[in-house]
Amino acid sequence: MTPEVPADLLTWIRTESPTHDSGGVNRMMDLVQEFLSGSPVNLERIPGTDGLGDCILLRAGPNRDEPCTLVLSHLDTVHPVGTLAKLPIRQEGDRLYGPGVYDMKGGAYLALHAFRDVTRAASASRPVTFLVTSDEEIGSPMTRPIIEDLARSSAYTLVTEPARDGGKIVTSRKGVGRFDVHVEGRPAHAGSRHQDGRSAIREAARLILAVEGMTDYGRGVTTTVGLVNGGTAVNTIPQHCQFTIDLRVTNAADGEACSAAILALQSGNSDVAVHVTGGMNRPPYERSPGVIELFEKAQAIAAEIGFDLLDIPQSGGGSDGNFTAALGVPTLDGLGIDGDGAHTLHEYGLLSSIAPRRELMRRLLESL
Ligand SMILES: [Zn+2]
Repeated sequence: MTPEVPADLLTWIRTESPTHDSGGVNRMMDLVQEFLSGSPVNLERIPGTDGLGDCILLRAGPNRDEPCTLVLSHLDTVHPVGTLAKLPIRQEGDRLYGPGVYDMKGGAYLALHAFRDVTRAASASRPVTFLVTSDEEIGSPMTRPIIEDLARSSAYTLVTEPARDGGKIVTSRKGVGRFDVHVEGRPAHAGSRHQDGRSAIREAARLILAVEGMTDYGRGVTTTVGLVNGGTAVNTIPQHCQFTIDLRVTNAADGEACSAAILALQSGNSDVAVHVTGGMNRPPYERSPGVIELFEKAQAIAAEIGFDLLDIPQSGGGSDGNFTAALGVPTLDGLGIDGDGAHTLHEYGLLSSIAPRRELMRRLLESL
């Protein structure tokens, strides 16, 4: 039997919403607002800043002064407007293809349905706060302080990023650091004045090898120089060279040590200046005893529903769950739709995964 595609999910996917298109993101927020109209939910629309789209903060559940369950979903995607032409919405058996269906409109969709069910039935076990965000795909520069503020008054955090490998969820993620390095040397004609030049690219090359050499798979530390930019002409000793560094670590101590080492990078030539900026963007999300306890509760609920809930080994990718977990709030992530191909033109979600995971989310909100 071919599973049916929910019409409102199709509308959500058709509404293209790359992070930097605030119009598209705000149309998604309008749809969420519409979806919840008439439900007993306190809805606050937080205007976007710096050209980003708005967020929506939802509160519901018992009106008691106790730590809440915080749910986090983002509705921005990485796909530029026009991706629908290259990745048309289509159904192939259980697979629903479309930009953002897996990361993470499907997850936001199932969680908002569960949230609405719980608010209408007045069945939440504690107050629920649901933040729908607009900037996760660029590292949450605008919403990070909001998320951290909400986390401080939360007992648990549930994040609806995509599930993997047959519905596995996420109980730990690496921390992510981002750095920019700018090297400035001295320009000269490559033929007539070679000895006067100080090549920024040559110095950058030395530094890049040093940075890449910090990778230590045994400790789960990786460094990647993913972008390099330098020089002005084939026959000019380059004055400038810039490169970026992506750092991934499994624990906070490694994050501090590696960040310090990167920020301390120095020029090996007194005529060449090296300037490093950046730091940890997302702290590591470690599998703490609190996370394990929460995971076991979710596993028991999943077993009642009729499926095995497993987790993946530590994920290399960061999410907003990193912020809440780093503040000591037991956090489960990957509670969204199952599927594959996040951030690519073969992105799809599995329709059969919506109902059981919506049910899991509902029961979590009713029992935690
Ligand atoms: Zn995502």
